[in-house]
Amino acid sequence: MSQTPHSRRRFIAGAVCPRCSAMDKIVVDLDRNVRECVACGYSDERPEAPAPTDELVTRVSRPAARRVETSAEPVRLVDPSDAD
Ligand SMILES: [Zn+2]
Repeated sequence: MSQTPHSRRRFIAGAVCPRCSAMDKIVVDLDRNVRECVACGYSDERPEAPAPTDELVTRVSRPAARRVETSAEPVRLVDPSDAD
């Protein structure tokens, strides 16, 4: 790690340098908002934003309308005196 602590650089996976066409050599300086190629020294002030990951989580919100089937069993009251 020879990077200066105050410069946060991130490699952009799959990024191709427009100058030397090197892949995975593009770093983005998050502090200066500059992208640079570590292979040829190319720098651009407008870093291409990496493809935004789809954070749209399609949530299937099911209504909690479950059918609670209560089995209604007839309660039989048995009179012990009657069974005698
Ligand atoms: Zn380059």
